[in-house]
Amino acid sequence: MKIAVLKETVAGERRVSATPETVKKFIGLGAQVAVEVGAGAGASIADHAYADVGATVAGRAEVLADAGIVLGVQGPDPDTLGGLAPGAWIVAGLNPFGERARIDRYAALGAEALAMEFMPRITRAQSMDILSSQSNLSGYKAVLDAAAEYDRAFPMMMTAAGTVSAAKVLVMGVGVAGLQAIATARRLGAQVSATDVRAATREQILSLGAKPIFVEKVAGIEGEGSGGYATEMSDEYKAAQAELVSAHIAKQDIVITTALIPGRPAPRLISAAQVASMKPGSVIVDLAVEQGGNVEGAVAGEVVTVSGVRIVGHRNVPSRLSADASALFARNLFNFLSAFWDKEAGKPVLDEEIGNAVRVTQGGKVVHERLVS
Ligand code: NAD
Repeated sequence: MKIAVLKETVAGERRVSATPETVKKFIGLGAQVAVEVGAGAGASIADHAYADVGATVAGRAEVLADAGIVLGVQGPDPDTLGGLAPGAWIVAGLNPFGERARIDRYAALGAEALAMEFMPRITRAQSMDILSSQSNLSGYKAVLDAAAEYDRAFPMMMTAAGTVSAAKVLVMGVGVAGLQAIATARRLGAQVSATDVRAATREQILSLGAKPIFVEKVAGIEGEGSGGYATEMSDEYKAAQAELVSAHIAKQDIVITTALIPGRPAPRLISAAQVASMKPGSVIVDLAVEQGGNVEGAVAGEVVTVSGVRIVGHRNVPSRLSADASALFARNLFNFLSAFWDKEAGKPVLDEEIGNAVRVTQGGKVVHERLVS
């Protein structure tokens, strides 16, 4: 089995889908690995580091020739997949809802595309979950990005020249990214509060030493859908939440928003009026900006100032920590493929539960239930 590791082509993408560590492990399973020239450069991994562990380093056409598995961070541009063998697997974060037309192209190429963001949230798949590994780093980086834009310090400091008060940080959406944002802001000495629609997060917020801010007394709303994901909330809930946030947000220095609903635009959590209620010099980081944004006025790829408030909308935040993000992403892919490696067949053979969850194309067709309507 030959595994191809492609150089990412999307602008600003600095991650790579395999590291020398995972390449060595794939070779240990009996696979051959071919890495495209320069694939690791954005994550500070030199070509020779791959060659040193036994990979072939070559141009794209040579890397793709006869490959049974093609690895990527993002789904490769179908126009660059000339020579791909029919039935070859494409294993990457394919953004199946955002890049629906591309999924059709993979089907037309005869590829078997596996969307790693569809990994089921079950215990045995935790080590294969790219959303978790990358969100964790995003949550951390969001706080550092906020600190860099903020004209004040995070911790309280008592100096001979007087006291500097601690920054007040609100984290909205307490999933993987939000939990790491809370922990990071706490480590920097901020006073942290947090909110989510899932009641289960209250305990988690408390356990990290932050203050939970929750909508109470809205009957019949649990806020938790299947697999631990949020469901879209009722209008009643949204109104109650907006009111609570309005009162709280005006007193905050930093807000980090992370709220996502899979397959749907991100929920709008902060209106322009709420932005304007914050003190000048406050900072908002919108981690959902590429899914439509949690914050009115956030612009993907930009830091904008609205009513004196800086709204940070960096794209692809994990790529801003490209070395660690690559290391974890690469391990997720290795953990996935090695868990199903069939020694006799010399390749991975997926079971039904995980195979059906992640496989989006097969036999020339789009096969995933969430993509076929
Ligand atoms: P996510 O990225 O889908 O969403 C981020 C957070 O935003 C979630 O906590 C969500 O509840 C919240 N949110 C959505 N709408 C909101 C709104 N209107 N207002 C406020 N908050 C809102 O979530 P995630 O980080 O992927 O994690 C979701 C859950 O799944 C967590 O409990 C996590 O621990 C769990 N998880 C389990 C596994 C596993 O078992 N393999 C893996 C990863 C995550």
